[in-house]
Amino acid sequence: MNAILPGATVGVLGSGQLGRMFAIAARRMGYRVHTLSPLADTPTGQISDKEFQRPYEDLDAIREFARGVSVVTFEFENVPAETVEAAAQLAPVRPAGSVLYTTQNRLREKNFLARRGFPLTRFRHVASPESFRAALEETGRPAILKTAGFGYDGKGQTKIATADDIERVADALGGREWILEAFVDFEREVSVVGARTWTGEFAHYGVIENAHRRHILDLSVAPARVSESVAREAVEIARAVLEALDVVGVMCVEFFLTREQRLLINELAPRPHNSGHLTFDACVTSQFEQQLRAVCGLPLGSTELMRPAAMANLLGDLWEAGEPDWRAALLVPNVKLHLYGKTDARAGRKMGHITALASTAEEAARTALAARDALTRSRASGRGIA
Ligand code: AMP
Repeated sequence: MNAILPGATVGVLGSGQLGRMFAIAARRMGYRVHTLSPLADTPTGQISDKEFQRPYEDLDAIREFARGVSVVTFEFENVPAETVEAAAQLAPVRPAGSVLYTTQNRLREKNFLARRGFPLTRFRHVASPESFRAALEETGRPAILKTAGFGYDGKGQTKIATADDIERVADALGGREWILEAFVDFEREVSVVGARTWTGEFAHYGVIENAHRRHILDLSVAPARVSESVAREAVEIARAVLEALDVVGVMCVEFFLTREQRLLINELAPRPHNSGHLTFDACVTSQFEQQLRAVCGLPLGSTELMRPAAMANLLGDLWEAGEPDWRAALLVPNVKLHLYGKTDARAGRKMGHITALASTAEEAARTALAARDALTRSRASGRGIA
């Protein structure tokens, strides 16, 4: 296989912020970028040479898109299998459709990982009120019920703690596929973002620590506060997962670290991940450039963390009382502001993030949070800015 060199056109399925940051990395290195999604004027489209606004099911459009690029990658994994197959007839798709197929459904993903002996929380397939009750016997309570397919950021998730929860949920299962997972009383959540080439070269960004709020990532910090042996084990698990799936591209492995210092895989993302956004400013090679290098068959870049870093997400909620005070956040030293070009600031929607660099991870976290707080502080105190 020949490398795809600068000057070539790379295609991205999906058009959100992950594609946007990929496109920024690709254009910086002299590539052209095409993107396809059902939406117009998207975060990725704004940075791309060409934006196809077509449904993923429009296979003629997918073929036209694939004909115009040297490689297809994606930033959104819930693309139908037929779409990937149609694209794959005309251009290499990396990671391959098989990776997408496994990871876009929680049940398939967990069964794949369980068969290969990867550490997971206990889980059961649920498809009816009866199997739900039987599954609860296995997992105990509390447990978390998740839709098997097409879920992200806690969408389609419910915690089952009380007898009332059981009754309420059993009546509402509605013939869909679900999985029930034992609730993990974790010490912390961590992730490893890895990249792999078609020759099996592997690179990783070490262990990143993640805090969620209402099931949505809120703050990521690197390096994570974990022991050396936990860090080594997390990286080895991630490497083994990328190998088992034969990933060509970037994949994030999200873990729970239990109080007994056991790592359990929570889920996989076959693309750059929100927890790796800090690599954009803090690492020699960002996860987005790494995705580009991997899918184009170029050598992977150094993943060295130049300084401890933290990333705080900016959700649409920050716009509740009007435009955030960007000046106030930018007054905080060592902070980088990223906005994704989205105009509709809905609650829970990821609009941007702030990365802070510092001499320790703790200071970076404090700085990122202070900069984010500054966005709304003037409004809260009623001062406003002139
Ligand atoms: P997910 O979309 O499955 O990654 O879930 C989003 C977040 O919900 C996770 O990062 C955790 O903070 C929380 N969560 C999900 N599953 C569990 C679980 N089995 N035990 C405890 N917390 C969970």
